[in-house]
Amino acid sequence: MKLLQDKTALITGASRGIGRSHALLFADEGANIIFTDLKQNEQSDALVAELRAKGVRADFLASNASDFAQTQEVAAWVQENYGRLDILVNNAGITRDQLILRMSVEDWNMVMDVNLRSVFNYTKAFAPMMMRQRSGSIVNISSIVGLNGNAGQCNYAASKAGIIGFTRSIAKELGSRGIRCNAVAPGFIETPMTQQLSEEVRKEWMKQIPLHRGGLDTDVAHVSLFLASDLAAYVTGQVISCDGGLAIN
Ligand code: NAP
Repeated sequence: MKLLQDKTALITGASRGIGRSHALLFADEGANIIFTDLKQNEQSDALVAELRAKGVRADFLASNASDFAQTQEVAAWVQENYGRLDILVNNAGITRDQLILRMSVEDWNMVMDVNLRSVFNYTKAFAPMMMRQRSGSIVNISSIVGLNGNAGQCNYAASKAGIIGFTRSIAKELGSRGIRCNAVAPGFIETPMTQQLSEEVRKEWMKQIPLHRGGLDTDVAHVSLFLASDLAAYVTGQVISCDGGLAIN
């Protein structure tokens, strides 16, 4: 029996990177997949085809996760077309790094909107459905930066720390309805987001990681798979780091 057999999962911002990896792994474990991103493109089309080839239902919805009204539309579409949602992975995220003295209000707002407001939007949109089902697993993708902070990323760190407070609150609020809510805190993961960093910055990170390598997007997806599945039936309100040991330094 596959871990997510016949469950339906929605993953935000999943045309590429960590979200894409979640979609592929969850499909391998038998889940039907709905994924979102800002725009439909070759990547999203290719992922739909790849997922369907695995024998599961798969659909892509172009939707801005930071826009409340658009997330309500996504929830209505899922209700009409799938009738339920078992797993919600709030993955969409961006960086707009800058030291505080140079950070613009726009960069602050943009990161808070995409990284934190989106988690509120999607949780609010799907909580009623999960409450009616009396089951559901929400996995929020935070970051080690939300736990430890990072110079030059005060907006990103605040948004990711906010996700942790939100996760613990929702776990307390919705636990009695059979809904679990957990967070994953990835460290340095090899994706387009981190490939933008200079070689010097990358080397500095590697030195600090006890496992001496960057993480893979699949490393993060495996932790989420555990949290999404019934293996984690008694786990809620937790933040699991997936960082090669970086946070213990
Ligand atoms: P990524 O490769 O940049 O992928 C992020 C995805 O989110 C992209 O497909 C992007 O779409 C989408 N997105 C951006 N804004 C959106 C919005 N408003 N609505 C819907 N989708 C949106 O990033 P990643 O490295 O896979 O990161 C995924 C998550 O992991 C993020 O929350 C990130 O903060 C977190 N994380 C990453 C690392 C790391 O080392 N990579 C570490 C810790 C945490 P576009 O292609 O249109 O921009």
